[in-house]
Amino acid sequence: MTELVDAISRIRQRLPARERATRLGLVPTMGALHAGHASLINRARQECGIVVVSIFVNPLQFDSRADLEGYPHDLEVDLQFCSRMGADIVFAPTAEDMYPEPPACTVDVGRLGEGLCGRFRPGHFQGVATVVMKLLQIVQPGLAYFGEKDAQQLAIIRRLVADFNVPVGIVGVPTIRDGDGLALSSRNRRLSEGDRVLAPALYQALDTVRRDVAAGATDPAAIRARALEEVPQDASVKIEYLELVSPSDLRPVERVAGPVLAAGALWVGGVRLIDNVYCEQERI
Ligand code: AMP
Repeated sequence: MTELVDAISRIRQRLPARERATRLGLVPTMGALHAGHASLINRARQECGIVVVSIFVNPLQFDSRADLEGYPHDLEVDLQFCSRMGADIVFAPTAEDMYPEPPACTVDVGRLGEGLCGRFRPGHFQGVATVVMKLLQIVQPGLAYFGEKDAQQLAIIRRLVADFNVPVGIVGVPTIRDGDGLALSSRNRRLSEGDRVLAPALYQALDTVRRDVAAGATDPAAIRARALEEVPQDASVKIEYLELVSPSDLRPVERVAGPVLAAGALWVGGVRLIDNVYCEQERI
């Protein structure tokens, strides 16, 4: 049975130093849990003695009030989900507990937060890095688990812990998809039936990049143009960006000369979906 801890003061009491001797794994989430989150919890369960799942919809990382207010949440359902997954603790603090007043100090993520999603969501990754830093300080895990679906977030968190010497291992977990390729996301439940049919277009476009790169294509502009042909001409679909970037520093590549990450964001109806696919040239 998963134990619910809903205050910072109590999680500190609940996880005294003695228990930290057992490897502690943290899976940070915003709730509305699905099989993507389950994959992170499973991995933590395999590698750690104690598994803590945090559920916190972080106001600092939302650039739109409507998006924050429309974000799905049902703590009771998530708690049952975590129990089934064998998590030991769900840490679900309130926003007042996490931010008794607006923080004076936040994490500046610099250039890493400017490209890809950062271009369209100013301040978003600063909010993400700040809450992850707080969660790492509060729970003090030995390992923390993040999805590769959010590639820019994962890259920033790897730099965050390296730059601030936070003693935690960051584990990246592969993206879980539906049968048609759509990456699982809490936001998918906001898609209408019609929009759900259109949503896999993002993965299809990214997978077109993967096939193109595997076949030896090297010009990002031409690759990108072919991939965009996969996006349906439909009033409710709008590509926000689709880029080929270096997997290590997420800078756009001028020519494909090694592995690249194809990353994109697609609006379907009023829902913003992101995804990325690792692409490499086939060895002959
Ligand atoms: P979220 O609740 O959307 O903030 O996600 C919490 C964690 O789960 C993040 O590290 C995400 O990257 C990860 N995650 C979300 N969706 C997936 C997915 N489809 N596959 C793998 N990991 C995911």
